[in-house]
Amino acid sequence: MKITSCVVLASFCFGAGAYAADELIVLKAARMFDGKSNAVVQNGVIVVKDDKIEDAGSNLQIPGGARVIDLGDATLCPGFMDAHTHLTEDFSGNYNEHRLQELDLNVSEHAIRATEFARVTIEAGFTTVRDLGSRFVASHEFVDVALRNSINKRVIVGPRMLVATKGIGATGGHFDPTNGFRDFLFGREPDYTDGIANGPDEIRKAVRFEVKNGADVIKAAVSGGVLSLTDEVDTPQLTPAEMAALVDESHRLRKKVAVHCHGDQVAREAIDAGVDSIEHGSFMKPDTLTMMKKKGIFLTPTLTASEWIMGKIDNYPPALQAKAKAATAARSEMFRNAVKMGVRISFGTDAAVFPHGQNAKEFKLMVDLGMSQVDALKSATANDAELLGIAQKVGTLEKGKLADVIAVLGDPTADITATERVSFVMKEGRIVRQGPSGVEKAEKSASPNVSALAD
Ligand SMILES: [Zn+2]
Repeated sequence: MKITSCVVLASFCFGAGAYAADELIVLKAARMFDGKSNAVVQNGVIVVKDDKIEDAGSNLQIPGGARVIDLGDATLCPGFMDAHTHLTEDFSGNYNEHRLQELDLNVSEHAIRATEFARVTIEAGFTTVRDLGSRFVASHEFVDVALRNSINKRVIVGPRMLVATKGIGATGGHFDPTNGFRDFLFGREPDYTDGIANGPDEIRKAVRFEVKNGADVIKAAVSGGVLSLTDEVDTPQLTPAEMAALVDESHRLRKKVAVHCHGDQVAREAIDAGVDSIEHGSFMKPDTLTMMKKKGIFLTPTLTASEWIMGKIDNYPPALQAKAKAATAARSEMFRNAVKMGVRISFGTDAAVFPHGQNAKEFKLMVDLGMSQVDALKSATANDAELLGIAQKVGTLEKGKLADVIAVLGDPTADITATERVSFVMKEGRIVRQGPSGVEKAEKSASPNVSALAD
């Protein structure tokens, strides 16, 4: 009983972000994947000083006086990244209940729930997320910006966030928050302050408005989507001229552009316009993938989202069921082709469509559709760091990078589902989690001894 209490207390202190200032921490495990190599090395050692990696390699000598944390039969990896989340939202339950809840709940209550979503995401080993859209009907609150800032100020525990604020889309398109509601129920048509813009000039205005309010990245819905009531899933929703304005204005302001896009025709137009990543990409044909590859544009496949929707298809209205079935049927072949053709793939899940914290399930789906284990791991580390424009700071385990380090039990290059069994999380040199997560503790009546996990 006493031991258990100590472990719980220690975990609580770590959770609160005990900092390792002036102390060398050495992380040891049976293996290490550094984010660059094509294999794991044995006897991984990482030396951490303050918020940075001092050294990382196999069988490194342990400096005297260092605090050594032996993580046992585990693999040290760079903190995982998810390039497509919605940490301020949760669409995972019954669609109509969610729709009603969106009208019922105060936006502050949504924000409080989001702090829990942030915590379970980092506890699952995801130390960075790109959060691609946060909107509440008839509200102008920037909950994603508040969440990001509160994490940066260490008011709450969560992953590093790059946020997109509202996202940009056309009237009646996938992002129109009043889609499917009675006309003028909310008293006005949404405008650029809600991310809804029509015509190149308004698109520029919407980009400027979002950057003014804290956007790190610009997201736009250029085609229809699955979970929206009044559009077809693959139809174009922005014109080539609007996309040209979107990309030009965003890049002038040094922001990358991620586009929600299922349809093939509009994907080609978005690629021509020079977007940085295509999200979903369900119906893209091989010729379109060739165009992407030539331009080095990333594909963020979000396989977990469609898998979740198909597994709970009765939760959705009939019109959405038909769209989900069509998109899911097309996306597996599209993804297999993208892997075969060597299109750059960024790891992204669309967390919120399924429960937060289950992000790592994407790895197995990628591997099942033909990606190698190592390439899947690279997609969530080095590739995402490059797409997010933060590769100089994170994404690999090497000297001088920020100490975002996780451990997964077993060897993910032998069994990719090891990524779902995270035993340790460090972000910027601070231990977020050692041993069971809060969710796992709640599931078990007694917390296991941390040292038992390290055996
Ligand atoms: Zn999304």
